[in-house]
Amino acid sequence: MKIFKTKSDLKKYLSEVKKTHKSIGFVPTMGALHEGHLSLIKHAQKKNNVTVVSVFVNPTQFDNKEDLEKYPQTLENDVKLLESINCDALFAPSVKEIYEDNITSDTFNFDGLEYQMEGKFREGHFDGVGTIVKTLFEIVEPDVAYFGKKDFQQLQIIKKMVEKHNLPVKIKGRPIFREEDGLAMSSRNTRLTKEYREAAPFIYKILKKAKKKFGIKSANDVTEWVKKQFNKHPLLELEYFTIADEETLETVDVINLSADYRGFIAVFAGDIRLIDNIRF
Ligand code: AMP
Repeated sequence: MKIFKTKSDLKKYLSEVKKTHKSIGFVPTMGALHEGHLSLIKHAQKKNNVTVVSVFVNPTQFDNKEDLEKYPQTLENDVKLLESINCDALFAPSVKEIYEDNITSDTFNFDGLEYQMEGKFREGHFDGVGTIVKTLFEIVEPDVAYFGKKDFQQLQIIKKMVEKHNLPVKIKGRPIFREEDGLAMSSRNTRLTKEYREAAPFIYKILKKAKKKFGIKSANDVTEWVKKQFNKHPLLELEYFTIADEETLETVDVINLSADYRGFIAVFAGDIRLIDNIRF
């Protein structure tokens, strides 16, 4: 696998690749890679001639300084994992390489998608995401980029950005990968203490039960039921649960049979914030 630290070296390599009309698949990540990431990468490899993965912990999308400082960074292990699946190229730039001396976000208008859910609780998060993903797209110029539905709101926001800015890249969403006990895989899971790790599968259990109730009970009743389950839980603290339209991400009021809905959740397991979602 080729490893690039600078934009110019990566671009040189990619300009050679592009000369032979090869399709480039791209998977942006923040590293601490797990099976969820690898599933995206393996899919990209199946569909493209060359696959580029980026590992970059993007400072501008963190609203919480401690979360950024403690975000797991395991580049050596990431390289081993990527080599084990024969990834073509890794782009692992420094913060300076991406932002020079100006670590700030651009401001985006995602037609209101940014004000829902994560946007309500993580100030500036999606401006940070938009900034880094747009920058990476401009460097890599991929044909297709792959994102996990684990971050469903992020996926919809990237699709919106591509549409609004006419970026020449296709965006594909891929399924959520879970541990055997149902916990959605996440780099942050490695930071959970044993006690919280054992408690965390409760999140997906409740999502599955809420899904069963949806259709029999009103969205409001299901939401209240979920809140009650977390109120009773001794360890996990619910930040939000909402049932929202997949396209607008607005909380459902009256169910429209032609729309698709999803339950979205954010939970604190101690000071680790976990998110998940399920299609209803
Ligand atoms: P991250 O490194 O957390 O920024 O994630 C990089 C990409 O991997 C994003 O598109 C995520 O949605 C995706 N991803 C993270 N965790 C999972 C998972 N458990 N299943 C599927 N995709 C995931």
